[in-house]
Amino acid sequence: MLPRPNSKAVDRRERLKIPESEPPRRPPEERVADFAEPWAPIGLEWAKLAARRCIQCPSAPCVKACPLGNDIPYALWQLEHGDVVAASRLFHATSSMPGICGRICPQTELCEGACVYIKQDRVPVPIGRLEAWVTDRAAEIGSIPRSPPSRPTGRQVAVVGAGPAGITAAERLVGQGHEVSMFDAWPAAGGLLLYGIPGFKLSPDRVRERVRRIGELGIRLFPETRIGTGLTVDDLVDRGFDAVLLAIGAGIGRPLAVEGAGLGGVHQATPFLVRSHTPPELLPEGTTPLTEIGARVAVIGGGDTAMDCVRTALRLGAQEATVWYRRTEAEMPGNPRDRKLAVMEGARFEWLATPLGLEGDARGRVHSLRLVRMELGDPDASGRRSPVALPDSEFEVPVDDVILALGYLPDEGFVGRIAGLDTEPDGRIRVDPATGETSRPGIYAAGDDVLGPALVVDAVAHGIRAANAIHEFLSSGGSAANR
Ligand code: SF4
Repeated sequence: MLPRPNSKAVDRRERLKIPESEPPRRPPEERVADFAEPWAPIGLEWAKLAARRCIQCPSAPCVKACPLGNDIPYALWQLEHGDVVAASRLFHATSSMPGICGRICPQTELCEGACVYIKQDRVPVPIGRLEAWVTDRAAEIGSIPRSPPSRPTGRQVAVVGAGPAGITAAERLVGQGHEVSMFDAWPAAGGLLLYGIPGFKLSPDRVRERVRRIGELGIRLFPETRIGTGLTVDDLVDRGFDAVLLAIGAGIGRPLAVEGAGLGGVHQATPFLVRSHTPPELLPEGTTPLTEIGARVAVIGGGDTAMDCVRTALRLGAQEATVWYRRTEAEMPGNPRDRKLAVMEGARFEWLATPLGLEGDARGRVHSLRLVRMELGDPDASGRRSPVALPDSEFEVPVDDVILALGYLPDEGFVGRIAGLDTEPDGRIRVDPATGETSRPGIYAAGDDVLGPALVVDAVAHGIRAANAIHEFLSSGGSAANR
């Protein structure tokens, strides 16, 4: 691995003159015809030149903007000199899933949004694309960094939930010498990565390949095991687990509280995405794949999930797929890059309108959506101006399917059944922010069940923090059984 460059070795003026180019994607008309990832192939020379645009700023704002603190400039320095394996190792040093975060992070809001080129109104260094690319290339030649095994501690940890926070924590805990068992309600591990993110952002094969490594590390995986029904968290403690990590995510879709929300053709976002994307052999028993959709699709919501839904609807054959959002684009919470891709693929957007009800036919199937126009009033608790209905502005649009992407809540049915566990008013698990420990000693929580719906990279950071805290707890003789 090359040493870090000293600042005199980097000719910043020359680097700033290197022509910029966005990472190549397949054309939108080709992308929208399948569920494959959007990227066109790049080669080493393209990647080296793109990495060389990094001017190696001493203050490294990109590193500060990355929730994992990835050492981006140093990794790009290795890449521009052709050392793909060293670049990949540097990303792996701080991230459990660089190949995944490089694909699905909203980079314009994080590392790339902090890149100096943005201040000059230029294309940033494509950090995410390069991170994913070096990780893939290094894996292809068999270079996946593995920590040397630690001396077994004889302590046992149960991880409930095999999504990004749970996988990250489990791998780290095993590396620290603990025995780890993972329990997940779904037929396969991966959580949101496998069941919630469409293949056109992250291929399920890539997630499966990543998950395969869990078994290689000796983590015992119990799929289709919903903790809380039958086996409870207290049972896990009674069976000898010294610590428990709750990483169950926030998978309950917010309902739409209007008349007609239960009609046929009205889908909650998660079941819709699961049925559209998941390889059939990984679907829960009794769940049927969804291979087509009506011609006119309405998506209600404005975040990343709404973008995933509208882009999925277009791939399932919708002729007209429209996102209805109650504020304006300026207040939309999702990733602007995904929004741009959705528009390129044919999605329509209607701002300042909110549903009042859904009308159905004699068979109980939705056929139209009633809405009202909004205007923006005073700011609410989130700091965004709140939408206020305009009088006499109701209208109706014909629809064949409606998808509700109104955000997610933690599963209070699960969390509420754990005796002595404190929660926030909205159902999230209350933890010590420094450690992730809950109000029950030895029981920790990480990821969306604490944060609410958040980014995968934040869940990974949470998983690392919780694993380190659990390791410290166990190393000092702690046990969840001492309650
Ligand atoms: Fe950027 Fe996300 Fe990678 Fe951090 S993890 S460098 S924010 S793409």
